[in-house]
Amino acid sequence: MSGMDAVVDVSNVCWANDIAPGPKSPRLGRLRILTDAWRGLYGAQTRMELVVDRSLRYKIPPGERHEFDRMCRTGELVEVPYADPVMLSMAGERDLKVISRDKFIDLRRRHAWIEGAAERFYRWRVESGGLRFVPSGIVPVSGHVVSQAEEDKELTRDGLKDRKDVLNFAWKCVSRCALSQLWPDRILLWPVVDRETGAPVCPDRNCRRPLVKVGARKSARQIVVARRDDGTEIVRFPLEAGDCVEIGRGALSHGINLDGLGDQHRQAVAAVSRHHLLLELDDRLVLSARDVGSSHGTEVQRWTGQALGDPRRLAAGEEVRLNSPDRLVLAGAVVVRMSGRRHSPDVEYPESGDAGGASTAFADPKQ
Ligand SMILES: [Zn+2]
Repeated sequence: MSGMDAVVDVSNVCWANDIAPGPKSPRLGRLRILTDAWRGLYGAQTRMELVVDRSLRYKIPPGERHEFDRMCRTGELVEVPYADPVMLSMAGERDLKVISRDKFIDLRRRHAWIEGAAERFYRWRVESGGLRFVPSGIVPVSGHVVSQAEEDKELTRDGLKDRKDVLNFAWKCVSRCALSQLWPDRILLWPVVDRETGAPVCPDRNCRRPLVKVGARKSARQIVVARRDDGTEIVRFPLEAGDCVEIGRGALSHGINLDGLGDQHRQAVAAVSRHHLLLELDDRLVLSARDVGSSHGTEVQRWTGQALGDPRRLAAGEEVRLNSPDRLVLAGAVVVRMSGRRHSPDVEYPESGDAGGASTAFADPKQ
C-alpha cells in the first residue's frame, strides 16, 4: 500500500466539466483522466477505490452505460445508494486520501475525524500540463452550520423541501398511535411526506397515517437533541414562537420524552431526569432554557466564535438565553441546541432585516 492510496468521489468527478468540457451530463471519460493523472504522479500501483452513487447510472449517456455496467461487474466501480458515507468510512478505516470537491459538511458529525485530517482531502485543478491535485479546503465548521447542511439533506429526503403547504401548518394524528396519545392536539415533530401521495403523514414509524391540519404554524426555531457520546441525533422538532416544551423522560403531555424515541438511545438518556429542562421561545424567536430541578443538572456551553467554551452548570431555576451555536448538556449525556435554521411561514417576519424569510420556508439565520 502506498501513502497516496485514495478513494474517489466518482459522481463528483464525472460531472466536472472542467476536466473535459462537454455537454451538461456526467462522463466516465473524466474519471479515467483523473485516475491516470493521480497514478501518473504517485505511481501506477497506487490503489484507487472508485465509489459511485447508484443514481449516476441513469444520468450518464446511453453510450457509456455498457462500460459502467462492466466496471461494476469487475468491481472496478463500487456502486452504492449514497456514495458519501461509504467513501468516508473507507477513508477513515483504511487511512486513504479522498478525492472530491465536496466538503462533506452534512457528515462532519458522524465522521468527526474529517476536520483533523484536512490534509487527506484533495480536489483537482486543471492546468496547462494536465490535472494537478491541491488540498480541497476542509476547515472546521460550527455545529449550527453542520445542522443546516444536515437539515437540507433531511428535508430533501423526507420530501419536505419547498413544501410550504406542509411546513407552514401544525398537524395532528387522529389514529391511536403512540405519538397521537402523547400529543393529541398537535404533533410536536415535523410530519413525513408520503412518497406516493405527497400527503403529510404521521412521523410515528408504526403509524404513517394521513394527518389532519390544525391551523397555521407560527415562526419557529428548530431544536436538535443529540447524544453526547457519539453525536447521534435523537430528535429534531420545531418550537413555535410563544410556545414552550419540556424535555425529560416519561410521558410529558407538552414535552419530548427521550425514553420514547428509540430503544437504541435508552442507555444514553438514562441519567436525564423525568422533568429536566424547560425550553421557551418568545415572540421575537429568542430561546431561553431553565433546568426544572433535575438530579444530574444541566450545563451551558457558549460558542466563542472558534469553539465551544467550558461548560458551566446552571443554578436551580436559573434561566439562560441561547444563541444558535451555544448548547446545553443534560446530565452530561444529552446535548440540546438550536439548529442553524429558523422556520418562518409566509407572514411578516417579527425581526427586521429578514426579508428573505418570506420567500422560503427556511430562512437563513442572521448570525
Ligand atoms: Zn399517528
